[in-house]
Amino acid sequence: MSEHSKPRQLPDRADVVIVGAGFAGLAAAMALRDAGIDDVLVLERGASVGGTWRDNSYPGVACDIPSHLYGFANHPNPRWSGIFARGEEIRAYLEHVAEIEHVAPLLDTPMLDASWSGDDWRIRTGGAHAGEVRASALVLACGRLTEPKIPEVPGLESFPGPIFHTARWSHDTDLRGARVAVIGTGATAVQLVPELSEVADITLFQRTPAWIVPRGDRPYSPAERAAFATDPALLSRLRAELYAEGEARFASRSGDRDAAAAARAVALQHLRRQVPDPTLRRALTPDYAFGCKRVLLSDTFYPALASGRVQLEASALAAVEGTALIAAGGARHDVDAVVLATGFESTRQPYAELVHGERQSLAAHWTQGMTSFGSTVVAGFPNLFVLDGPNASLGHNSSVLMIEAQAAYTARTLARRAGVLRVDPEVEAAYTAEIDTAAASTPWITGGCHNWYVDERSGRLTLLWPGTVDAFRARLDTDGGEFLPVPIERGAR
Ligand code: NAP
Repeated sequence: MSEHSKPRQLPDRADVVIVGAGFAGLAAAMALRDAGIDDVLVLERGASVGGTWRDNSYPGVACDIPSHLYGFANHPNPRWSGIFARGEEIRAYLEHVAEIEHVAPLLDTPMLDASWSGDDWRIRTGGAHAGEVRASALVLACGRLTEPKIPEVPGLESFPGPIFHTARWSHDTDLRGARVAVIGTGATAVQLVPELSEVADITLFQRTPAWIVPRGDRPYSPAERAAFATDPALLSRLRAELYAEGEARFASRSGDRDAAAAARAVALQHLRRQVPDPTLRRALTPDYAFGCKRVLLSDTFYPALASGRVQLEASALAAVEGTALIAAGGARHDVDAVVLATGFESTRQPYAELVHGERQSLAAHWTQGMTSFGSTVVAGFPNLFVLDGPNASLGHNSSVLMIEAQAAYTARTLARRAGVLRVDPEVEAAYTAEIDTAAASTPWITGGCHNWYVDERSGRLTLLWPGTVDAFRARLDTDGGEFLPVPIERGAR
């Protein structure tokens, strides 16, 4: 371990405290240092870096964004094993980047509370480095899909066998030969079910079928990887192509009629080809607009169902009575174990309760859903930057691109302006109104589905950025730390 990366003790103060050491925390640490801000402390509640890729270790965990686009722009990785990287590979990549960039977070050190004192932030920590640290600026890089959502199902808590969420996989539980109920059919379940069905007998509870398109994964050959390693221009061209392909997907996800119809036809053909049984096919066909929920990529999910290895229960889990799981449709399924692939608390971020600004907590400021200016700064919370928070997620392209844009904006803003930075509440309100206008006619709002992009309290789109990455980058570049609003590009519609 180099001198730089030696874990430090909790200092009394730092210029900037970053909370979280996943993609966003590492991106922020690197961007701040590149901007000449060296006195940066990273706090991480977990035992290692990696964020979502440390926490999600379920069988089949992988990324559905091509590997060469799902990494830091300044850390291309010629060694990705295939078009889509497995979770463990991404976790190892993040460990590697932290190591070579000398980003050494204080591990096992959760932020318990952060309060604005009038001229700086006072951050109370627990765990391995309990105490208080003061900082001029605070960067929340806490992730957005971190807290497992446990469905409110009567009797669930008294299920007598093993029961766990996919993001808290119990590696000590041997599911081989067991009857396992998997609850949910989102991005996680379509990766998990084909792998788990190789060893276990699965009943899959599907409340809402997903739109699924072909994935087209394959390993890179040793020759391809050698070429990536020796020809950086080849890698940058590939990244540029993948970026452009991602941006082109925005049209079909955001409601462009022709693009959505074409993509929907691809999904339906995929289903027809992989599921010959018309009854099963009908049960797997979504009845809501393409793009309303995250569109999934899988070549193995439908075949696992069509093979008979997985029994589809095409209704929600409604109740649990001992070892019997009762479906909303009335059927009873006796199982040995339950896996909750039920997603995350996305609209009420747990860190919001812990952060207290000039007048109130972030949670209180966000009672009608998350709001911000530039998807990054919040009125009433001076010198605070939230990465991957309000309106910063994507359904069409790599979220690392958004994180990097936000990290660069944060670093630029802090490097240019000393003192206390405040967002005018009217500027935040105007930005929020722009988001609402841009989102109003998109399938995320009008598509007839329930998705985790929309806040249930207000019906507002609070998680997703309703535009392209190009538009987001332009937006933050234009603002350049001046906190001046410019219109959101509405994308191809
Ligand atoms: P999710 O998309 O929120 O899916 C949760 C699933 O649980 C939904 O199908 C939901 O049904 C279902 N559910 C909840 N309660 C239920 C009940 N009582 N009975 C039956 N079903 C129930 O969660 P996720 O699959 O973990 O994915 C979350 C996000 O994580 C993704 O959208 C994606 O952004 C990210 N992710 C990404 C990757 C990747 O490869 N990049 C992989 C995994 C996850 P409804 O649809 O009816 O609500």
